[in-house]
Amino acid sequence: MKRILITGAAGFLGSHLCDRFISEGYFVIGMDNFITGEERNIEHLLGYPNFKFIEHDVTEFVSVEGPLDYILHFASPASPIDYLKIPIQTLKVGSLGTHNLLGLAKDKKARILIASTSEVYGDPLVHPQSEDYYGNVNTIGPRGVYDEAKRFQEAITMAYHRFHGLETRIVRIFNTYGPRMRLNDGRVIPAFMGQALRGEDLTIFGDGSQTRSFCYVDDQVEGIYRLLLSDYAYPVNIGNPNEITIKEFAEEIIKLTGTTQRIIYKELPKDDPLQRQPDISLAKKLLHWEPNVTRETGMQITFDYFKTLSKEALYKSEHKDFKKHIKK
Ligand code: NAD
Ligand code: UDP
Repeated sequence: MKRILITGAAGFLGSHLCDRFISEGYFVIGMDNFITGEERNIEHLLGYPNFKFIEHDVTEFVSVEGPLDYILHFASPASPIDYLKIPIQTLKVGSLGTHNLLGLAKDKKARILIASTSEVYGDPLVHPQSEDYYGNVNTIGPRGVYDEAKRFQEAITMAYHRFHGLETRIVRIFNTYGPRMRLNDGRVIPAFMGQALRGEDLTIFGDGSQTRSFCYVDDQVEGIYRLLLSDYAYPVNIGNPNEITIKEFAEEIIKLTGTTQRIIYKELPKDDPLQRQPDISLAKKLLHWEPNVTRETGMQITFDYFKTLSKEALYKSEHKDFKKHIKK
């Protein structure tokens, strides 16, 4: 039985990856410190004989007993609100955490895939974004803590590949959504759906002309799975090229949820990218992958999931208590 370590296992993407690798017959070791994740995302896995969970902060030395064939490094705050609240933890998990996991991969002779992001392109001046674009990132802006941690993560991963001959994979993930996102993490889909469920107005930042391209989680997981098993060490974009303005998207959400609330406008956060759309030619050619879940279907499944959450989850204060997960 192949053995895989998945960091960020209690998060949105990590928990779906655990499900996928268990269903493929792997022994999965999930690791998380719950700073932005939720126990309920992995509760269903705790009784499985081929799943083991280790509560651990990966910015501290990481040790795992027994052999490992693969590592997926997905631990990191991922929503702008989260990483603005915990900027230093964000920098540490992308840098020190990645270094620890690369060291573990080298020790275990395991292949490692790291979760990078479209944020490495910053507020892009090239559209759509292909892997050969170097990006337009404000290193000292509020988003710099995430963007630069991810850029460092890519650099150190390539260094381990070139210097140590480590088998590495880099996925550049574009906005992905689905069940198990944290309702109050501030990202636009849980934000709009939560507002609709609570009967609040939908908040558009800026004038809503900025664009995003949303990928359903099952498509994302399939792309990551194929990339891990490929022999390609350079970054690959995985996302859905179907681009939409945030204003049009808010209108779709109003229709989907049936909310009678209005749209209200708030200030656009600093360095919020004005456009984002993946060029997925490389993934198509290399992995024979492309997304096939429509926004209509994916949003319906996601909204149905949010409707099942308790009143407490719906109204719980906007942010998690991060402090209890941070060592002094
Ligand atoms: P998430 O916040 O739901 O999950 C991240 C998980 O990592 C959480 O469970 C959190 O508790 C855990 N974590 C954070 N710091 C940790 C640490 N020091 N030690 C151990 N665990 C830690 O976010 P997500 O959307 O699932 O994102 C997962 C990964 O994918 C991240 O690396 C993120 O940068 C990347 N990504 C996601 C998207 C997206 O649209 N969802 C887009 C681009 C990149
Ligand atoms: N956004 C918004 N209202 C919200 C939350 C987000 O208009 O309540 C906008 C945000 O400014 C950005 C887009 O939606 O332009 C996507 O934001 P998200 O936080 O989901 O992710 P990003 O792609 O910016 O990392």
